[in-house]
Amino acid sequence: MLDADTYQRLAAEYGTPLYVYDGAALTGALDGLRDALPAGTEIFYSLKANPNLGVCALLAAHGARAEVSSLVELVTAVKAGVSPDDIVFLGPGKSRAELAACVATGIRAVVVESFQELADLDEVAAEAGARQRVLVRVNPATGAARSGLTMGGKPRQFGIDEKALLAAGPIGDRHPHLDVAGVHAYLGTRILDAAAVAANTALVLEMAERVAAATGIALGTVDVGGGLGVAYFDGESDPDLDGLRAGMAEAVAPFRERHPHARLLFETGRYLAARAGTYVVRVRYVKESMGKRFAVTDGGTHHHMAAVGIGSYVKRNFPVRLLGDPRGPAEPWQLTGPLCTPHDLVAKDVALPGPRAGDLIGIERSGAYGPTASPGLFLGHGFPAEVLVHEGAAHLVRLRDEPADLLAKQRLPLPFQKETTWSRQRSSNRSSSP
Ligand SMILES: *Cc1c(COP(=O)(O)O)cnc(C)c1O
Repeated sequence: MLDADTYQRLAAEYGTPLYVYDGAALTGALDGLRDALPAGTEIFYSLKANPNLGVCALLAAHGARAEVSSLVELVTAVKAGVSPDDIVFLGPGKSRAELAACVATGIRAVVVESFQELADLDEVAAEAGARQRVLVRVNPATGAARSGLTMGGKPRQFGIDEKALLAAGPIGDRHPHLDVAGVHAYLGTRILDAAAVAANTALVLEMAERVAAATGIALGTVDVGGGLGVAYFDGESDPDLDGLRAGMAEAVAPFRERHPHARLLFETGRYLAARAGTYVVRVRYVKESMGKRFAVTDGGTHHHMAAVGIGSYVKRNFPVRLLGDPRGPAEPWQLTGPLCTPHDLVAKDVALPGPRAGDLIGIERSGAYGPTASPGLFLGHGFPAEVLVHEGAAHLVRLRDEPADLLAKQRLPLPFQKETTWSRQRSSNRSSSP
């Protein structure tokens, strides 16, 4: 973990609000996970969690592959140095242009989510004179046994229902330009119980064998999803990696025996990125209202929507830390931002030791689903700068949005494009000067 002095230096150099990513935490999470998964399991980083180019490049250099879900994520992964053969593309509503880009780039596999998409991609591959490998995303008939956050066994826009797939017959034969090479399923997110992730994996592997038997596809690859969480709130703890190691080994063993050469893919975004990121904000004002203390900062929920609440009606706080010496006893504070809405509450009744105007506060474990999953344009604040600390050096990996960036795509309708008093004055000043 980076120390308070480092955050002070970075804030002085790059300004606030600021996202800081600790490279050692990114690679440490990847190493820990790799060590807990059965040997040979390929780890695919889900760019959705944090698509910052620098973050992706560091993870890629450390051996992560990439799971992308948009054209920009695909371009990001390639630019970050991920080999096309280490990229899978998934998503329920891929455009024709995205499918064509997958084929043109030569990615490992397109994860297909409907029968219609199979036909579309077959056409796209034919037009390109290429063959494309695909995995079929399955919506399993039953949900995961031990996860409260199940995504199987329910009507969903994702994937093809297991039942429909079992009845579909030889789908590979009907699409001559596709190589249907395996199965994908994703059963949930934010799963903290390692045993639940292992149980999901066992379910997916069994389901993959049923689908392969019914459709005649070869099981070259099974993408077992993932969904591993991290602890955010009081009473939570990070997944137990020893438990994960034991559970996954057991879940995979019978499948491995029958399919010794199948590739196993594990997807993860939050687990790799979340703990590496700290959202650093500076206190602008402190005040009291009806008995509650408020620290109004320069950063807010427009950069950190997750802080408003994840899957819960009860407000729970991310870990929050004063980045400096305590200035008094810890007391409950409301941590708010500059937005003109009462929802701009980053932390509620959070214990802080006497923050004052000018102090820095870090919202920790914020490296996943941060700026890109937040309404950054609200009130025209734009997105914050992002810095990656790698081997002791800080690298600015995203520039802060400036007013000109935020206005660049807007156009004044012609009837309103008249000279303002202000611009008239300026031009007359200019003409009167020598
Ligand atoms: C969102 C998503 C992920 C990443 O989820 P995390 O909880 O961040 O690990 C992986 N796979 C699919 C299909 C997803 O939709």
